[in-house]
Amino acid sequence: MKNEGIEGTERFLSPDRGRGLRAVRHFAVGELVFACPAYSYVLTVNERGAHCEHCFTRREDLFKCGKCKQAYYCNVDCQRGDWPMHKLECVAMCAYGENWCPSETVRLVARIIMKQRVTTDRTPSERLLLLKEFEAHLDKMDSEKEELNQADIAALHHFYSKHISDLPDDQALTELFAQVNCNGFTIEDEELSHLGSAVFPDVALMNHSCSPNVIVTYKGTVAEVRAVQEINPGEEIFDSYIDLLYPTEDRRERLLESYFFMCQCTECTTRSKDKAKMEVRKLSSPPEPKEIQSMVHYAKNVIEEFRRAKHYKNILFSLELSLLEKMGAIFADTNVYMLHMMYQAMGVCLYMQDWDGAMSYGEKIVQPYSVHYPTYSLNVASMYLKLGRLYLGLEKKSQGVRALKKALAIMEVAHGKDHHYVAEVKREILDQK
Ligand SMILES: [Zn+2]
Ligand SMILES: [Zn+2]
Ligand SMILES: [Zn+2]
Repeated sequence: MKNEGIEGTERFLSPDRGRGLRAVRHFAVGELVFACPAYSYVLTVNERGAHCEHCFTRREDLFKCGKCKQAYYCNVDCQRGDWPMHKLECVAMCAYGENWCPSETVRLVARIIMKQRVTTDRTPSERLLLLKEFEAHLDKMDSEKEELNQADIAALHHFYSKHISDLPDDQALTELFAQVNCNGFTIEDEELSHLGSAVFPDVALMNHSCSPNVIVTYKGTVAEVRAVQEINPGEEIFDSYIDLLYPTEDRRERLLESYFFMCQCTECTTRSKDKAKMEVRKLSSPPEPKEIQSMVHYAKNVIEEFRRAKHYKNILFSLELSLLEKMGAIFADTNVYMLHMMYQAMGVCLYMQDWDGAMSYGEKIVQPYSVHYPTYSLNVASMYLKLGRLYLGLEKKSQGVRALKKALAIMEVAHGKDHHYVAEVKREILDQK
């Protein structure tokens, strides 16, 4: 098969960042740059029954696989389409019962191995970059990453060796897991709830910037890349790999740790937003720089703990209030570490169905969010969306409509005017008339 490329863009070699993607024509804000079907994907276990395993459609009338009773589908076509992948898990889930617990990365890698066996040609997901070309950065793995890598390989053997004959050798698997860790994507819904994991080779070709000119959203299992800044011919196309809420030092640490590079984007070199992001409470006797530093250190540790803990909600039940109080003595309410804690606290409220509590955290978060994040941000859109839906649930009609309209303005650019999420929000607004 001939390499057709992606119209309006080209793969190139950037002197500082290695290979990347650049525009060969102008793209306006909101314009679709390209779409990329997933090479392989997997629905997260928690969303079973709410989304179709095959096409990721969210609906209530799905029917379940008669054998394992765990996978759900729109119809027979979706079930049939999914079988080559589902068969890796269907029987094993019955056999292992409660003890069936491979991580999502392991599940995704099993699917990639199967897909590689049945495809010889370049797939429609690899018009510019082949999965085999993914960086693995094996030379930069520390002992912790190596341990995780070995555990993944062991789990793959444990849960999948019966259904995948002749698994690749350990060296090949080490590389494949490392490639997926550096190049994998998580698929999220319009409120940024996690739906699954996937690989989109062409999307992975883009380099990172903390001031990205495109945003990636999902339509089912297809990734869509839209311009959120004007892009001129010759300019490099950047998406963001990380949450952009945090100050430069934190973003750089995260990028170095997960993607092994030092970010030199305009945001990281000018640090224009750092001061507002680190705002300290205005007090008659302002805190010493030392005090501030130690609180920043403390906050970063807590955030790291949350990131590593699987069941963060458990930690929060006990820590949430004292944490906020402790940090609030030094940090202003608009400080990003405070916002991080409030976001977590809002998550706990939603989980406990404390709608008033969730709403009051949301109200505190949303304004500073729109200052700290770029103009078009999925984090800001999803916060307005959650808040708007909370308002409507609490019969606060005009506030609800106002918040949903704010979300809509961002989503029409980031998701595109014809996205089903945009249509849903429009319907929610119309229902209030
Ligand atoms: Zn379906
Ligand atoms: Zn099944
Ligand atoms: Zn940067």
